[in-house]
Amino acid sequence: MKRLDTQVGIVGAGPAGLLLGHLLHLEGIDSIIVEDRGRDHVIERVRAGVLEQATVDLLIEIGAGERLRREGMRHGGIYICFSGRHHRIDFEELTGGRSITVYGQNEVVKDLIAIRCATGRPLYFEVEDVRIADFESAPRIAFRKGGEEIAIACDFIAGCDGGHGICRSSITTQRLQTYEKLYPFGWLGILAAAPPGSRELVYSLHERGFALFSMRSPSVTRLYLQCAPDEDLTAWPADRIWDELTARLASDDGWCPNRGPILQKGITGMRSFVAEPMRCGRLFLAGDSAHIVPPTGAKGLNLAAADVWTLSRALAAWYRDGREDLLNSYSAQCLRRVWRAQRFSWWMTSMLHRAPGAGDFDYRRQLAELEYVTSSRAAMTSLAENYAGFPLQ
Ligand SMILES: Cc1cc2nc3c(=O)[nH]c(=O)nc-3n(C[C@H](O)[C@H](O)[C@H](O)COP(=O)(O)OP(=O)(O)OC[C@H]3O[C@@H](n4cnc5c(N)ncnc54)[C@H](O)[C@@H]3O)c2cc1C
Repeated sequence: MKRLDTQVGIVGAGPAGLLLGHLLHLEGIDSIIVEDRGRDHVIERVRAGVLEQATVDLLIEIGAGERLRREGMRHGGIYICFSGRHHRIDFEELTGGRSITVYGQNEVVKDLIAIRCATGRPLYFEVEDVRIADFESAPRIAFRKGGEEIAIACDFIAGCDGGHGICRSSITTQRLQTYEKLYPFGWLGILAAAPPGSRELVYSLHERGFALFSMRSPSVTRLYLQCAPDEDLTAWPADRIWDELTARLASDDGWCPNRGPILQKGITGMRSFVAEPMRCGRLFLAGDSAHIVPPTGAKGLNLAAADVWTLSRALAAWYRDGREDLLNSYSAQCLRRVWRAQRFSWWMTSMLHRAPGAGDFDYRRQLAELEYVTSSRAAMTSLAENYAGFPLQ
């Protein structure tokens, strides 16, 4: 068996694990990252696309923002569409200049992998049978790579292995309190080779259900439709998808999304989940391994970034000054932000989707809420500051 030592063992090379690795590197802290999927799979996984102002500022500050600055699409607001009209919420004006940036999660991951490789610090892809042990006292991570058994001894483990990883499930259930809400619908998402017909995102509530118009580049559009959580994708040929998107997103002034060849399609379930606390001994959970938000609020990747920023500062204070207070307050500090994002994501989801079984009363109530949200400055400001996100603290 091969034995390795490091200061922080990181499980998972998604946005949380890679960003943590680089934040620690900048503090002079050594880490090893282990990832069970291949590099190409990790880079090509199309998921989030909306970065809050604080996430963009952080990536630029740590030197991972060169391409983001060049290719990221800065948006000063979003549109909300209902009853055939588009209403703009002007984030910059309402929040004193904060904005969002559309830049694919796969691009963020690509940039972070490049920066990790440039540091020369270890990043293992395609590892098998990852296990963690003794995280109350002398943490260890064990795995197989190319048939060889490898064991890492470390001071701390960061569980950045997403919603289906092994870190959270290695903590006995008595030590964790979990909170979950399942939504009775999902999203059918497509990536299409079609130039975006709107400069900004369009969130729509239609009597046929929710739809979202988004983009990834000047030639690629990303669109979503509310569907059943167990929807059969084969029942959705391209024409049906485009007809449904057009019906739900078109406005009375003639706007509708541009059509083009569909490059990818998939179904995403909608779920809110939190595990508390986000720490067990010397194991710290970060990102989706600790919490999942429905994608309507565009918060998942941003929460992952905020968690690992907080964790990196706590670990730096421990290594530099022997201080434990920031490690001790890590979970509570992250959870304040997490629950604020959970509330916002739940609110956006409830306001913009038609739940099965909900009647005309609910629909009229949702339209009245949207009317209020798009006409009251106080309500628009609340949406804008939550969507553009709060500074890291
Ligand atoms: C359709 C969709 C749209 C979204 N849109 C947005 C958005 O606009 N904005 C936003 O902020 N968020 C969005 N999200 C959420 C966002 O994608 C996630 O919150 C984000 O990926 C979390 O990052 P993470 O690093 O915590 O987890 P992940 O990205 O899941 O990374 C975890 C990594 O750990 C690896 N792993 C798992 N198990 C093991 C193991 N046993 N050993 C080693 N490695 C392991 C995985 O392969 C993966 O690479 C969206 C999600 C979806 C599905």
